[in-house]
Amino acid sequence: MCKICSNKREQEKVLCSSCQSLIEDLDFDTFNAERKWLEELFVGRFNNFLVVFSLIVTAGFANNLENWKYLVFYFGAILLSFCWLPLVRAYHKYDNAVKILLTLKEFKGKPNQIGIMQELYGKRKNNIFKNFTISRWLAFYIPITCVVFLIIVGLGINLCIIK
Ligand SMILES: [Zn+2]
Repeated sequence: MCKICSNKREQEKVLCSSCQSLIEDLDFDTFNAERKWLEELFVGRFNNFLVVFSLIVTAGFANNLENWKYLVFYFGAILLSFCWLPLVRAYHKYDNAVKILLTLKEFKGKPNQIGIMQELYGKRKNNIFKNFTISRWLAFYIPITCVVFLIIVGLGINLCIIK
């Protein structure tokens, strides 16, 4: 199955021939601008996520609900999970754009910094830390830690471990 349109594709290829030719026709500068826009979208959504998280933590500790304090953390965890979905979506868009930009032969040899980036990207494939890229930290590891933190604090207050 083609990764973009889900049509049939040749063996050993990620994309079908029609998607492949569409990408080959892409203009480098336009696509690089698109990548830049997606990166800003991704980072913007991550910043929004952090703002929502810090608001929930503040609301959780600085309220006057004597017996229901933990509910703020539980609802906060649900709310934060909803804010996480657009972030993951933006991550996939950005990641695909970077993949297309840095792995397609047609862009190689462009007289700019993209050549160095392509080399680094190629080296990263064999790296044991390839799953710990910064964009994955922003999209998965930090948001998951934030949601788990809220659930643990909620549980702690609920079970009277944290007062
Ligand atoms: Zn396709």
